[in-house]
Amino acid sequence: MNASSPDSVLGLGLAVALIVLVMGTVKSRGADASRDRRVPEGLLLVQPGDLPIVLCVPHGGRARIPDVPARTGHGVARFATTRDDGTDALARAVSAELEKRLGAKPYLIVARAHRRYVDVNRPPADGYESELAKPLYDAYHEAIRLACQQIRRRGGRGLLLDLHGQSAEAEVIFRGTNNGKAVERLRRELGETAFTGPQSLLGQLEQKGYRVVPPCRPGPREDRRFNGGFTVQNHGSHRTEGLDAIQLEFGSQLRSRERLARTAADVAMALQAFARKHMPVGGGLLRKSAGSPVTKGLHGSETGDTRIEKRARENAGSEP
Ligand SMILES: [Zn+2]
Repeated sequence: MNASSPDSVLGLGLAVALIVLVMGTVKSRGADASRDRRVPEGLLLVQPGDLPIVLCVPHGGRARIPDVPARTGHGVARFATTRDDGTDALARAVSAELEKRLGAKPYLIVARAHRRYVDVNRPPADGYESELAKPLYDAYHEAIRLACQQIRRRGGRGLLLDLHGQSAEAEVIFRGTNNGKAVERLRRELGETAFTGPQSLLGQLEQKGYRVVPPCRPGPREDRRFNGGFTVQNHGSHRTEGLDAIQLEFGSQLRSRERLARTAADVAMALQAFARKHMPVGGGLLRKSAGSPVTKGLHGSETGDTRIEKRARENAGSEP
């Protein structure tokens, strides 16, 4: 594979990757249609992708939401306000590593507000207490929904990774799919080995020496603390509009300053290997044959890219 061949550069150049800091007006629907909903500047990062891969980061943010008090969590099950330290940097590093390897970007959707103000990986009723936090919450999930839709319309299989951090086991990666439900399509179409075999995404990481829980073999159930939250429940492939979705909970050592680059490189390597084996579109992309039917299938949809960028621009006062 030659990641920098002129053909691939030309082919991939057709798909514009653009980092947009979403801000400004989000028009709400229905009963609220008369009111403008604003996502304060810099609180949501949306990078449209070329690859059929979506990276989401719900809990890595540090920012305040203007005029929004800290959540109290009254009556909320599994209330948490702790940041998943380093997950935003990890996601950016995985994105950069994928681009280096493949010459193309994944979708990257990062909530930059601190979890004490909004938790985008919870149902709306548990995710925010102030109406001023609702626009960010809604925009985050709308960005995921659009990314999934674009990938599905391109006709190939896609993968959504919801990136988190956990402090229970410093060297462990916990998998969360609601015990396989959120990757229903993958399992149905390609069998259980695509989910838990040595060539699966986590199987690749296990072979690299990572401790994955549950281990990559058929049978063991996921740890109840980390078995898949609101995002994989709502954007997983058991939903018509969803993609195969996996929540990954990285131990604190794996996100440490010293280890983060290595973790990101290994996750990107695993994604590349997974795409080659299990994603028809990704496999075509990896061959770097610009103009092949597969590559056209991936990049030919102007509608997809222009829509998410248009939506981002509508939501943005300006772009960086
Ligand atoms: Zn988290």
